[in-house]
Amino acid sequence: MSIEKAIGRLAPEIVEFKAGQVWLAGAGPGNAGQLTLDVVSALAQADAIVYDALVDPSILKAADGADLHFVGKRGGKPSTPQDDITALLIALAGRGRRVLRLKGGDPYVFGRGGEEAMALARAGIQFRILPGVTSAFGALASAGIPATMRGMNKAIILATGHAAGEPEDLDWAALARTGQPIVVYMGLKRVETIAAALISGGLAATTPAAVIAAATTEGETVLVSTLAAIAREAAASGVASPALIVVGEIVSMRAELGQFVKLVKSA
Ligand code: SAH
Repeated sequence: MSIEKAIGRLAPEIVEFKAGQVWLAGAGPGNAGQLTLDVVSALAQADAIVYDALVDPSILKAADGADLHFVGKRGGKPSTPQDDITALLIALAGRGRRVLRLKGGDPYVFGRGGEEAMALARAGIQFRILPGVTSAFGALASAGIPATMRGMNKAIILATGHAAGEPEDLDWAALARTGQPIVVYMGLKRVETIAAALISGGLAATTPAAVIAAATTEGETVLVSTLAAIAREAAASGVASPALIVVGEIVSMRAELGQFVKLVKSA
């Protein structure tokens, strides 16, 4: 059966995008295969798409003549201020457009989706949240690292490494004491500080650590090291954003499973 036919059979389940609504959606970590059907249907139905830098451009191929509004960082220029983005969403919806607000990963995970939803709620605009595969889970799957592994962890921590504008940094020592693996978003620039804080919080310097960049895309890179060496090795390798730092015993699973992931991809 063709993909079109399979999707066609599911079409009756798909929600209609009504004029004047905003759908706040997650485009996943990059690979088109990780889009949800809801998001594909939103791309097909939208009149206007407001998207970020982390949305892989290839995904926009699924749009059908919608006006495209890019609001991310480009060429060193800062991204559009948050207030301007919400004003744009409200204005487009007010004009009766079907507005798709597309973000990388999941809109409610370090994506300011909560702030945008609040602004829409306050403006009395109808909206839906369409979850996406957050980059942590896309990246772990792609790298051959189980998010949870019996006997290794009973929780997994998703943290932000971004400290700008915040009154104080996360209590990394408290996170270290849980002994549970930590996936750090937006942390590459501060990897040295974060790794040092986790070690002084009690994690062994030999704890497996990885940097996963551009996960699920053609340019995916995985660097496996230890907590003590990860910052130095990341700098030496020149690995760049977008990237996640993964710390914990689960990273060691890649030795066995990572190879298989590669075989499956190239098969
Ligand atoms: N809402 C997004 C996160 C936005 S914050 C989500 O759910 O994934 C931006 C951070 O996400 C980046 O700094 C990086 O840490 C991470 N990220 C997003 N896409 C990524 C990808 N393809 N590979 C690795 N990290 C990614």
